[in-house]
Amino acid sequence: MIKLSDILFREVALVIIGGGPAGLAAAISAKKNGIRDLIIIERNDWLGGILPQCIHDGFGIEIFDEALTGPEYAQRFIDELNLLEIPYMLNSMALEITLDKNVYVASPEGLFCFKAKAIILAMGCRERTRGQICIPGTRPAGVYTAGVAQNLINLKNMMVGKNIVILGSGDVGMIMARRLTLEGAKVHAVVEILPHTNGLPRNHQQCLIDYEIPLLLSHTVTEIQGRNRVNSVTISPVNKELESIKLNQRKITCDTLLLSVGLIPENELSKTSNVKLNPVTGGAFVDENLETSVSGVFACGNVLHVHDVVDFVTLEAERAGKSASLYIFGKQTKSKRIRVEAGSGIRYILPNFISKKTDIEMSLRVKHPGEQVSIGFFDGKKLLKTKKFRKVHPAQMIKIKLKESETRAIKTLKVRVLQ
Ligand SMILES: Cc1cc2nc3c(=O)[nH]c(=O)nc-3n(C[C@H](O)[C@H](O)[C@H](O)COP(=O)(O)OP(=O)(O)OC[C@H]3O[C@@H](n4cnc5c(N)ncnc54)[C@H](O)[C@@H]3O)c2cc1C
Repeated sequence: MIKLSDILFREVALVIIGGGPAGLAAAISAKKNGIRDLIIIERNDWLGGILPQCIHDGFGIEIFDEALTGPEYAQRFIDELNLLEIPYMLNSMALEITLDKNVYVASPEGLFCFKAKAIILAMGCRERTRGQICIPGTRPAGVYTAGVAQNLINLKNMMVGKNIVILGSGDVGMIMARRLTLEGAKVHAVVEILPHTNGLPRNHQQCLIDYEIPLLLSHTVTEIQGRNRVNSVTISPVNKELESIKLNQRKITCDTLLLSVGLIPENELSKTSNVKLNPVTGGAFVDENLETSVSGVFACGNVLHVHDVVDFVTLEAERAGKSASLYIFGKQTKSKRIRVEAGSGIRYILPNFISKKTDIEMSLRVKHPGEQVSIGFFDGKKLLKTKKFRKVHPAQMIKIKLKESETRAIKTLKVRVLQ
């Protein structure tokens, strides 16, 4: 039983939860915007979040115009954090956020309660597992999520198997198909339930096509076989409703199944502070300042919505850091907001609320891949703006800027794909 006297109370202007790319960029931005009294809470014993295990390149193209590896990208921000003398706590888990913005943290030094003026949520996301997609069969060794396999191979020098099937063509799954091939394993198939890949087109080309790894679209794994270790999986086609059909089922002999079947924003903590969550993204509803439904609580990075590219995480987090600073200094302009709605063909759009007072960059994802697609913004029936794209893909985040002059007089805002 913990007594009140066991808790170490501290007052602090800004608490940032998570020391991944989002937390690092938010902290640096807050400090540069005048916040001296801030702290990053990170549960791992390192900074950089998922990046240290992403040893492939492709990070930083947008921000640094260089293709860096994950560890190199993270190090640039860690160096700046140290230069700015921003404090952080490692091996420290934020357990609860109360309604009055107290953040309880378990750390090797004891149990802390940070009484914060503002909080930035930057907890990233976690992978979906076998249990969440309910694959029938036995429970042998050899079933990994793609991120866990990446961690074992890249950071612990442990090979996960020799004959591999990958379920899900998300970016992590495709990157791991290439990685395992380079390490000498045979990737028999990447199996995808959708009729298109679920990751970036560049990863489809560079990780699967370039290495001649078979991609089975509109298929899924319907059974795992094996006693101690996986020895085969059953692959079945699916119909338009994504239900598996018995016709043309086949077994693939393998010793390992990797799952790359989606990422879930880590918002259990956000719920303790009453932050309202969007069922589509799994992240918070936010306004253009990235402020959640709870005043003074901001969100950015993969905990807000799963990003395709880390550079966009950094840019978003910089905005969250600046917004939190304005809030702390009492300079945030509060004005009437309107709800932004995702219409037909749009999976989601952020921010969810805008104030019509500034230019805004909207981030959105479409539901289906397409070519020569126009996206339209409407106030009721009135078309405000259209933007045409040569190609769109659900895995790719689309950014569209709305000028203050375009939204100044609107009463509603809805975005949809035009036929
Ligand atoms: C396998 C893989 C490959 C990728 N490849 C690319 C690529 O080639 N190019 C690219 O641009 N992007 C790539 N990405 C995406 C990029 O890595 C992510 O977009 C980025 O890491 C998200 O940053 P984040 O800070 O939001 O989350 P994370 O990096 O997940 O960081 C979140 C941090 O919060 C901490 N945390 C969570 N909960 C708590 C708590 N309660 N208390 C304390 N700390 C907590 C976690 O420990 C973690 O360190 C890849 C991602 C993966 C997984």
